Amino acid sequence: MMLLPTSVVGSHGLPGWVWLAREAMEAGRLGAVDVRELMEDATQAALLDQERAGIDVVTTGEMMRVRFIVGFYDFIQGIRPLEPPRKLGQPLWDTNTPFEVVGKVSAPHGLGIVDEFKLARSLTTRRIKATVPGPYTLLVPLKLGGGYKDKDTLLADLVQIVNAECRALVAVGADFIQIDEPHSGMYAGSVPQFAKGVNRAVAGVEAKLAVHICFGNLYGRPFSAVRDYRNVFPTLHELAASQVVLEFANRGMEEAGRWKDFPKDKELGAGVVDVKAFKAETGVDVAERIRGLLKHVRPDKLWLNPDCGFWETPRWVVKQKLAALVEGAQLVRKELGG
Ligand SMILES: [Zn+2]
Repeated sequence: MMLLPTSVVGSHGLPGWVWLAREAMEAGRLGAVDVRELMEDATQAALLDQERAGIDVVTTGEMMRVRFIVGFYDFIQGIRPLEPPRKLGQPLWDTNTPFEVVGKVSAPHGLGIVDEFKLARSLTTRRIKATVPGPYTLLVPLKLGGGYKDKDTLLADLVQIVNAECRALVAVGADFIQIDEPHSGMYAGSVPQFAKGVNRAVAGVEAKLAVHICFGNLYGRPFSAVRDYRNVFPTLHELAASQVVLEFANRGMEEAGRWKDFPKDKELGAGVVDVKAFKAETGVDVAERIRGLLKHVRPDKLWLNPDCGFWETPRWVVKQKLAALVEGAQLVRKELGG
């Protein structure tokens, strides 16, 4: 692998026709074959955009996922949807559907990520990073009930679901899996057992592992008013993953310096493109951010990403941002003599 490999965090900007097709899907106008064809065409478009931009390690684009994790609850048994507490005005976290646990929580047919991966695998020859939501993130919209006395018991069952999904991904050829735990960044300090739970979720998973921790992105907004990794950084040492994927660009590259106190065996997948900013940065902007990171991170341990997934960003802007990411990486690679 060359120096400073580029990748993405997960979701790609949805084509306009996918938004239209989703409306038609919700109105019951699509059959199973139509949905399958939609998924295939949309995934192909996401992969082509990434390949043409020159991204080294691509993702499936997560074209059929709904609001990051909300779609996964369709695959989970033992829960029922509740009314969102707010329905008027700007959609945000309080307009998302919460769920009540009413029985044993399980996903007998998985979370649908294996199908997503298999499809992408058949459509590209590039290396793919598979992306799986972490147990803490899946726990957040669930209201305790159904015989569960505490969140730890519920978490243990979610850990099983994530672990089974990861093992199934490896069985169909995934060799790089990223666990997405934005919520541990969003509620920094409130999950002291964070590494333990994530490590149990990836136990026995024989693939390169990454963990993504960010500050949330719903309708283009972060969750928290205070956004720093101070409480999260100590627990990163314990993670059984060779790469940690973090958000920097949206915060003016704040905290890049913390990395110098970090174990040298892990790679940093650094966010050098701001997915929340509407305007695309230039390759020169991205190169400047990379140079700042290289003051604290060895070049052979640095991967380059956008801050987070792109599903909230218009696809035409995503293409510009991907081009800037690749150009920035190329500029700095040249300076490093690579
Ligand atoms: Zn994120």
